[in-house]
Amino acid sequence: MIVPSVELTELLHGYRRFREQGWKPERQRWETLRAGQQPRVMVIACADSRVDPAHIFDVRPGEIFVVRNIAALVPPFETTPGHHGVSAALEFAVQVLQVREIVVLGHGMCGGCKAALTQELRGTEPGEGGFIAHWIDMLDEVREPIARELGTEGRAAERAMEQAAVKVSLENLRTFPCVREKEKRHELTLRGAFFAISDGVLHLLDERTGKFSPA
Ligand SMILES: [Zn+2]
Repeated sequence: MIVPSVELTELLHGYRRFREQGWKPERQRWETLRAGQQPRVMVIACADSRVDPAHIFDVRPGEIFVVRNIAALVPPFETTPGHHGVSAALEFAVQVLQVREIVVLGHGMCGGCKAALTQELRGTEPGEGGFIAHWIDMLDEVREPIARELGTEGRAAERAMEQAAVKVSLENLRTFPCVREKEKRHELTLRGAFFAISDGVLHLLDERTGKFSPA
């Protein structure tokens, strides 16, 4: 017999609310979704518990295809050994689901970006911080000028890092041939976005100016 913990009990309470309020009234929708999904948007977001894209964009099941990880990062196109989770999801979204839009959603107070800035995990062993350190070393290059100009502490530097990370992900997305080609044919649009946790305001990146402004 499963002995529920406080955490599981809370999850099950939520599940029962969902069954009553979310699932039953929308049974028709779930019937349709059973046949398959056709989301038109892929969102790449941080795993941070405060920035659930489905919540922020108020979408229903079936509407967005989501990948979440530390700092909402997309690694470059690589064929090295290892398990490429983001690349697999991206391939599925672009080639199979044929999403029309990919949104990279960075956010304020991002722990992953902060660690990239302070490099506090550098040199740690896998399982002791090493996996994170290696993951966020994707940001090393953009970190340099930020650290030089704004230092490695404080919100100004952190926010600059958080927004730079979105640009790194967009750049890395374009190293995938399928993304590049579809973007060129105007079959796919890439967007950078930033959700400021402190005021709950979504910002969109204008790639021509490199600036984020409120949506
Ligand atoms: Zn984060």
